[in-house]
Amino acid sequence: MESGNAVNATDVREVIVIGGAAAGYTAALYAARANMDPLVIEGISWGGQLMITSDVENYPGYPEGVLGPEMMQEFRKQAERFGTEFLTDDVTKVDFSERPFRVWVGDDEYRAETVIVATGANARQLGLESERNLQGRGVSYCAVCDAAFFREKEVVVVGGGDSAMEEATFLAKFASKVTLVHRRDAFRASQIMTDRAQATDTIEFVLDSVVEEVLGDGLVTGVVVRNVKTDERTEIPAEGFFVAIGHDPTTELFKGQLDMDESGYLVTKGKTTETNVPGVFAAGDVQDHVYRQAVTAAGSGCMAALDAERWLAAERGRLADALAAPRT
Ligand code: NAP
Repeated sequence: MESGNAVNATDVREVIVIGGAAAGYTAALYAARANMDPLVIEGISWGGQLMITSDVENYPGYPEGVLGPEMMQEFRKQAERFGTEFLTDDVTKVDFSERPFRVWVGDDEYRAETVIVATGANARQLGLESERNLQGRGVSYCAVCDAAFFREKEVVVVGGGDSAMEEATFLAKFASKVTLVHRRDAFRASQIMTDRAQATDTIEFVLDSVVEEVLGDGLVTGVVVRNVKTDERTEIPAEGFFVAIGHDPTTELFKGQLDMDESGYLVTKGKTTETNVPGVFAAGDVQDHVYRQAVTAAGSGCMAALDAERWLAAERGRLADALAAPRT
């Protein structure tokens, strides 16, 4: 993988894509094929959430499934084939107050007529070493993606919000038993989602409890939970451990410049990828807390590239018209 140091920082590009994962690489693929010469500033840890996923079986076109990291390499390669340039570094600052837009990586400044923000969101992690070691080996952050691997097996879900209820209910369609562990005795989840989970026979609730360790040597075999009121520790056998404690969009860089909702997700207009700044577009999980799938992220990356291309063409048309207009 090239470091990207050879990228020319002085040109004003047609488009810079910030973020290298399903949305960003797809945006780059479309922009490159539209001759927009995209630069993707992909981040040091490019690839996004698929890098902590093992088998992906729900991305169309891979009937045998594909490993998440392998799929991201292929997305990247496909964007590269049409001339995308990559900079494997993190954006440190942006200025969208005037055009061309300015994007910095340390002291190096890059300028572009349009920007596509595709910085994604991260599933919150508990932060346990054992959790990290077993990621993709039974530890998962996406039930929709991985539930089918746990057919007739026992799994544990942690969390007390709508995500946890939804994931537990979904997992119960596959697993023989689902144990939902929550740190309090009251749920943050909506009543309807809680009722649905509570009405499912195969879901058991362990409340006032935190997961202290994920057990397993190579593959998950269980978790250790501690009751926060009694300090009692219990081992729950499980082959899958689903962390459903929320997501954080990667939007710190854009605070004060792009409109966000109360959870920090970028706000896009209607069915487009337009942000509040004309010429800046947002795609993928950074603007979607509902679907959060590789295929929907890729789809919105495509939309962002088309939106950017059309916006630029319209801008140039407006400029040409203004120049051609008779002076009064
Ligand atoms: P959330 O509402 O922020 O809930 C996170 C849950 O995880 C909380 O119960 C929290 O416990 C727990 N938690 C957080 N950090 C933890 C930690 N370190 N250790 C243990 N537990 C921890 O997140 P969410 O459930 O992902 O929902 C996010 C938003 O999406 C919400 O607005 C939700 O309504 C929406 N959503 C909607 C649907 C739907 O309608 N179909 C589905 C999913 C999500 P505490 O309660 O103790 O803070």
